[in-house]
Amino acid sequence: MVNFDACHANGHDVESALRSAERLCLRRGSRLTALRRRVLEIILHSERPQGAYAILDELRAEGRSGAPPTVYRALDFLLEQRLIHRLASLNVFIGCPHPEHHHNGQFLICQHCGRVAELASFTVEQAIRDSASEHQFRVTSQMVEILGYCADCQANESADVS
Ligand SMILES: [Zn+2]
Ligand SMILES: [Zn+2]
Repeated sequence: MVNFDACHANGHDVESALRSAERLCLRRGSRLTALRRRVLEIILHSERPQGAYAILDELRAEGRSGAPPTVYRALDFLLEQRLIHRLASLNVFIGCPHPEHHHNGQFLICQHCGRVAELASFTVEQAIRDSASEHQFRVTSQMVEILGYCADCQANESADVS
């Protein structure tokens, strides 16, 4: 059972996520600079995944002179550190709730409200690996993007109909 509300971190969760991101980077010998930290914070704070330009707009509104390459570099860093994921179908970024271990992900993307829940189902992962190996294919990475409607949007839809 996926709880969509749990995916939208509140202020307290964001603070603790940022602190653990700092610790992770420190342990890995990389540096979460002020800009990288702020980009991560923007992503974690938003209820929906953000595109690079929305993040850039937010930085500019704060008076930071963020040029697109700077933001892209910060996003690349966060991706490398696995602090965020990129949803290729929408070209948006979402914070990862468990960056400490390497994982593949399945993402439930609501086509109506745009909210995304991350699943980390080993069963799904294994099924993909098994099916791929039947084709002598060795999987190195898998990001499964599943489109549909979240529970809230389904509930609203049936409310509209009645
Ligand atoms: Zn993740
Ligand atoms: Zn929805």
